[in-house]
Parts: sequence; structure tokens; C-alpha cells
Amino acid sequence: MTAFAYRKGSLHAEGVPLSAIADAVGTPTYVYSAQALTERFREVTEAFAGHPHLICYSVKANSNLAILKLFTALGSGFDIVSGGELARVKQAGGDAGKTVFAGVGKTPEEMAQALVSGIRLFNVESAEELEALDAVGRRAGHRAPFALRVNPDVDARTHRYIATGLKTSKFGVPFEEAVALYAKAKKMKGVRALGLDCHIGSQLTRTAPMRAALTKVADLYVTLKAKGHALEYLDVGGGLGITYSDETPPSPQEYARTVLAAVKPTGATLLLEPGRSLVGNAGVLLTRVLYRKPTEARTFVVVDAGMNDLIRPALYEAHHEFLPLVKRRGRDVQVDVVGPVCESTDVLAKARALVLPRQDDLYAFMSAGAYGMSMASTYNSRPRPAEVLVDGEAWRVVRERERVEDLWRGERA
Ligand SMILES: *Cc1c(COP(=O)(O)O)cnc(C)c1O
Repeated sequence: MTAFAYRKGSLHAEGVPLSAIADAVGTPTYVYSAQALTERFREVTEAFAGHPHLICYSVKANSNLAILKLFTALGSGFDIVSGGELARVKQAGGDAGKTVFAGVGKTPEEMAQALVSGIRLFNVESAEELEALDAVGRRAGHRAPFALRVNPDVDARTHRYIATGLKTSKFGVPFEEAVALYAKAKKMKGVRALGLDCHIGSQLTRTAPMRAALTKVADLYVTLKAKGHALEYLDVGGGLGITYSDETPPSPQEYARTVLAAVKPTGATLLLEPGRSLVGNAGVLLTRVLYRKPTEARTFVVVDAGMNDLIRPALYEAHHEFLPLVKRRGRDVQVDVVGPVCESTDVLAKARALVLPRQDDLYAFMSAGAYGMSMASTYNSRPRPAEVLVDGEAWRVVRERERVEDLWRGERA
């Protein structure tokens, strides 16, 4: 990945110095690279080129309209988890017919809206949800296409907050109940079984858990076909990890080899739901140093981005590299980089060795394209960051910085 690199000591996104963007738009600001997004999408889809498949980009990783539009132009479908995400996909010109709908708590209203939109597949996560979808289908007068999301009970070996395929997880239907549920669904008039689905977690860096889960799910797919269910799609979820610091996740090619080896016997069309692996390394968060605070125990560097802008370190103990926009020489000191939010967990980079920043210096939190802006909040009444998309030498604001007046829109005093 060369989209973010130093040129003559200045950190660039493609052909644009990031400091130029920070000076023009202010900080904190998310910056994405169109080239990185495009290359990564092509790399993943080409890795599966020999097999019928559809990439359904997982919208929750980064739901900016410009990014959804870019992926639409590349032929992507979408994986959504709410009616709001469906509305975003449509607003960006995306194809509902290439969209799959997951989530344990879809409301009947969201289901009806998705059905009317002509969605490809509902990924159903419980017996009661299946009944609710059946009712929605009958009311609408046509069968809702569904896959059961099964829980293969596999340890994804990732952070416990982003593992979703264990028995104790709220996601999916217990593996052993799937056959009976498909049999039950066959008698329903409002649904039509069209696939089988799983998603075992996020930031997966090992192939063994993927292989274990997909082998189980592929076996189940074959069993269901043998029982007369006319399935077409095997949805293998998302979860492919990226490098934040020193992780060595499988390449898209290695990932494709693992997936294809497991699912080849099914003859199914593959649905893939990558989120993080498409956008994570294609974005950074720019920030400015406010103050340095040396204390007896630690040296703190206070920056103008906080956990409300980038919650991953506080929520998942996540690591983001912290790089100066203009390279500096000097002796490394150990610092904690903290935000302005009034919470002790507002530490964005812990115990990092770097040349002591000066006040007003600009820095970037790297690999912030996934679950960054999409998880941002206005906690502490902090307007959310601006977003910028770079393409070659050109760049444009794809979301204005939130204004203070936006903070109380809809409130009554
Ligand atoms: C979040 C999610 C994804 C995307 O996960 P990544 O780790 O970002 O690839 C895919 N499918 C489902 C059902 C999800 O909830």
C-alpha cells in the first residue's frame, strides 16, 4: 500500500500533502484514498475471479456516501445492518438487489422497507425473526428471500469484543437448530430459503478458524440441498483482518484460497461481506497537538481528536500508528497521546516512542478508515470531524465538519 507515504519528509495521501488538507479543512479530519479503496476492492474481487461471487461491502465499516458511490461504481453490492444503512445505499445510487441484510434486531418496518426495495437476501438470526419475516412477506404478498445465519461455534481468535461465532455470542442461530428451522420455513408462505450465512468475527488474522467454520457451514449447505432446499447462496461473512501495527493477516489471495477450498463442494454462488479489509488501511485521522504535559509518571500529548472521533482504542484496545505529517529528527521519548474528552479511557495511543511533538504540530492516526467515522459520536458536545476523499492530485470534502448548531437539532428547550 503506497497511498499514504512520506515524500520529501511530508506525509502524503496519493499526490496530496496531508498538511495541506489539515490547513484548509482544520482538524480533526478523516482522509480517505480513492486509489487505496479501488485497489483493495479489485484485489479482493480478482482473488475470487474463478468462482461466481458477489462482494457485499459491509456498510457499517464506513458509510460515507462518497465511499458507497465509489464501491457501487466498482460493481459492489452491500451488507447492511439497519434501515438507515439501506437508505444510505440507495442515496448513494447502490443496488438494493445486490444488498444483504444482517443483524439480530431487524424491526418489521425495516424488513418491509427492505423487501419492497427488492433486497437480495435477509440473513435471519433467530427463529422468532424468521416468523416475523414470514409475516412481513405474507403482508407484502411475496416471499422474502432468506438465509439463516448459523453460529458455527468456532473461536475466531480475535479480540473478544469482535468475536461473533462462539456459542455464547448473540449472533446467528445455533448450528444444531438450522435443519429444523429450514424445514419449518418450507411450510411458511412469506419466506423462501435461498442461502446459508455465517460471520464469525472481525479482524481475523488466522486462516484456521475460517477453515473450521466454513467447512462446517459448507457441510450444512450440502445437507440442506440434499433435503430439497433450493439454496443458491453461501454467504461467508466478512472479517478479514488488516495490519494496524505488526499483524500479518492473510492476503486476499490466501483468504480466497482458504474460502474456496472449503466451499467448492457446495457449488454455491459466494457472497462476501468484507468491511475493514476494504477500507481500514485506506483512511487516516488528522489531528493537531494542543499541549504537552510532562508529569512524574508519564508524558502526555494532548491532541484535538478524542475518543468520540475514534473510539477503537477505548472500545477494543486497538492500536493506531501515530505519525507526524512532517518528519522530525530527534531523540525518542515515551508518551501517551490523549484526547480532550473527559474520560480516563480517552487514550488514543499508549506508551509510544516518538520525538516529542511541539504544540500545533500535525499528526495522523493511521489505518482509521474502518469503524472510525462510522462510530464517531458527539459525546462531550464535540461536533464530528470532516471527511475528505483524495483522488490523485485532487481532493474534496465529502462530509462537512459538523456545526455546533447541529448538536441540538431536534431538541426542545
Ligand atoms: C460487521 C460485519 C461484517 C464486516 O466485518 P469486517 O470485519 O469489517 O469485514 C460482515 N458481516 C456482518 C454480518 C457484520 O456484522
